[in-house]
Amino acid sequence: MPLFAGTGKVLIINIDGAGTGFNDPTPATPVGGNAGTTRGQQRLNVFLAAAQTWQNNLDTNVDVRVRASFAPIIGNPACTDTEGILGQASPMDWRHDTQGVPMANVWYPIALANKFANTDLSAGVDDINVRFNSDVDTATCLGATSFYYGLDNKHGTDIDLYNVVLHELGHGFGISGKANAPAFSEGIPAISDVHTFDVSAGQRWDQMTTAQRNTSLTNTGNLVWDGAVVRSQTGQFLSPMSTLTISAPAAIAKNYDVGLAAFGPTIDKTPASGRIVIAQDEANTDGPTTTDGCSTFTNASAVAGRIALIDRGVCTFVTKTRNAQNAGAIGVIVVDNASACSAPSLGGTATDITIPVISITQTDGTALKAQLTSNTTVDASLHLDPSQLAGTTKQGYLRLYAPCVVEPGSSVHHWDTTATPNLLMEPFIGSDLLHGLDLTIYQLIDMGWTQPPRSGRRILKK
Ligand SMILES: [Zn+2]
Repeated sequence: MPLFAGTGKVLIINIDGAGTGFNDPTPATPVGGNAGTTRGQQRLNVFLAAAQTWQNNLDTNVDVRVRASFAPIIGNPACTDTEGILGQASPMDWRHDTQGVPMANVWYPIALANKFANTDLSAGVDDINVRFNSDVDTATCLGATSFYYGLDNKHGTDIDLYNVVLHELGHGFGISGKANAPAFSEGIPAISDVHTFDVSAGQRWDQMTTAQRNTSLTNTGNLVWDGAVVRSQTGQFLSPMSTLTISAPAAIAKNYDVGLAAFGPTIDKTPASGRIVIAQDEANTDGPTTTDGCSTFTNASAVAGRIALIDRGVCTFVTKTRNAQNAGAIGVIVVDNASACSAPSLGGTATDITIPVISITQTDGTALKAQLTSNTTVDASLHLDPSQLAGTTKQGYLRLYAPCVVEPGSSVHHWDTTATPNLLMEPFIGSDLLHGLDLTIYQLIDMGWTQPPRSGRRILKK
């Protein structure tokens, strides 16, 4: 059932040498719908499947040539037990003011420029360059975690190569800049820059100076995608946002961005509402301060029925939450112990936690503690905000990734990590992704790509 309307195909050009990467002869057992019997064949099959998915979703009459390699990526930083680069991709060429482009003086990635021109503007030259890190399959890079070569999304704790290839090709189709952000190449914005908007500055990137864009690049929570198609589709993919609302005192009353926990009940099922109390425990070998929540609380009677405020550090998030639960708390707020512009995600697993737990930034925590230590009553609730989707701003824009320390290659050209559920084009691959393109396709449509027509649903009356 080919959905593809254009005659162009997404072609994978294997540039690996004999015996390496896509040609790795190491025997492999067919897995999850991938019939390949060598590691190289399995890698190529995943690429072909991801290319087919893109081909089914983007409409062009010009073949898109993807120059692909599977080789060690000596990243900076180098791949370690816990962190590494999975793959990299970029358009191999950009054009501006070529035939058929909708906007003048804007760089378009070559595959999109070809689509508008309805001809191959760079005949004989490949369009997208993509490279995957074969070291992921060794023990020195990400430890026992390897690529999963099945096509059925049953990757377990391994990394689903299919999703990573979809992600990287998204960069190649246009979710990238021609120059390193915030620079423009030859003073001309890329099509993605034209849709990059700073809600607090009230300007798009193509309307700003380089200095203004440099400030905007780290404007966490305020750098967004300005595109009507993404905006109209966010509700199809994202859940309402979990938030911390302080209702009193007035000095700190507002909604706060929170980090979510991988354990415990979700806030939609178990909201919590009440006073906040700073948890106290002994300074001991479990934890050196009286506010780290690492041992049995000494003010359990004050915490019971309230929301416990605990500092991050030393012991696990699960231990802190369990101690709060044992003291009778109805919820937990973990305050970050380092300066960062977004609240940390709280990792861990536990089956015995029945109260919700979230995190806030150190800055927000300091403001909260100032009220509590002067004996002011602080009323709060942990709840879903039905007026705002997770990962969007209150104006309804989807946030772009703009961490306060710039991450070259990741900043701007990904969605913010507050999107829930996780999206394909977030900088870190989530384990809960749809096995598909989610909002990625709509971001590309905002840039000028089109989708093939779908067959309409018919009704037969006789
Ligand atoms: Zn990426």
